[in-house]
Amino acid sequence: MDHTKEKIVVSGMRPTGRLHLGNYFGALRNFVDLQNKYKCYFFVADLHALTTAAENTDDLAANSEQMVIDWLAAGVDPEKCAIFIQSHVPQVSELTTLLGMITPLGWLLRNPTYKEQLNELFRKKYAGQEDKVAAEKMAMLSEAELSEMSSFGFLGYPVLMATDILIHKAAYVPVGQDQTAHMEIARDIARRFNDIYSTDTLFEPKPLFTSVPKVPGLDGRKMSKSYGNTIDLGEDPAAVRKKVMSMFTDPNKQRANDPANPEGCTVYAFHKIYNPDYQKRCEECKAGALGCVACKKHLFELMEKEITEFNKRRAFYESDKALLNKILERGAQQARESAEATLKEVKKVMKLL
Ligand code: SF4
Repeated sequence: MDHTKEKIVVSGMRPTGRLHLGNYFGALRNFVDLQNKYKCYFFVADLHALTTAAENTDDLAANSEQMVIDWLAAGVDPEKCAIFIQSHVPQVSELTTLLGMITPLGWLLRNPTYKEQLNELFRKKYAGQEDKVAAEKMAMLSEAELSEMSSFGFLGYPVLMATDILIHKAAYVPVGQDQTAHMEIARDIARRFNDIYSTDTLFEPKPLFTSVPKVPGLDGRKMSKSYGNTIDLGEDPAAVRKKVMSMFTDPNKQRANDPANPEGCTVYAFHKIYNPDYQKRCEECKAGALGCVACKKHLFELMEKEITEFNKRRAFYESDKALLNKILERGAQQARESAEATLKEVKKVMKLL
């Protein structure tokens, strides 16, 4: 990790196995940018995965590994940042316990993260159904049913999340425009801790807003595993080609030379990402200057080189488990050192040492 950079950034992802292009453009590509500007700690949030799926851990380790391979193939560089698995840094669990002692229960019950995660559970339970349907079903649940569904760890999820950030004294946490509530609790917990013990041990992190392109799924809805509309990182180019050719387009365009509206078209959303000349495509589409088949073929041509190169890098890391383990061990070591320093300070001000 590059220690010359001063400001610290922390970010994690839940290990969901293979990532898709929505994850890549929504977060992963940002990791690659951030590592050049900040001292970054990027972690696989396997403890967070347990908060909603503790009863099924069969694929957890393999999912974590696959995700790290995607990160490395995407250009996250272990020479520039610390890449590690959250549970390999036991200081996180210890600090979570300590910060849990000063976190009011009301904050956790009211926190939007709790509700979002409940929604997430519901999405899994009612996979394939619209969010709205899941939300309606959830609204009908009684308090008792809700508490049956969630666990102590699930309710305490925001404390764990705050710890991930505070333990490395992060200056910034990358968030989307609608996600500030996610990190507000980290700021609240830091402030409360500092107030109670009259200290400035914990830093209040700031959100680092990033603009990310809109990546729809093949059917035009949000790209999501639960909708089965993803293009996964590492997919074979032939499979991606098939998916591109099946993408949702403007339904009003019946013939190749019909004028159409590119703004509602999934293929055009991808042109915006991959085609530097996408504005020209916009005009061509509006004028009916080309058909959707040709437009899709062109999109795949633009994507193919990137996909092939990504897959080569992916295969390299996948074939060298020893290297992967070395990278993760080194990252965890760096994270443990940083975490231990904060934990010691916290214990000292709490008079535990
Ligand atoms: S021509 Fe291209 S942008 Fe226009 S509707 Fe067809 S696929 Fe979409």
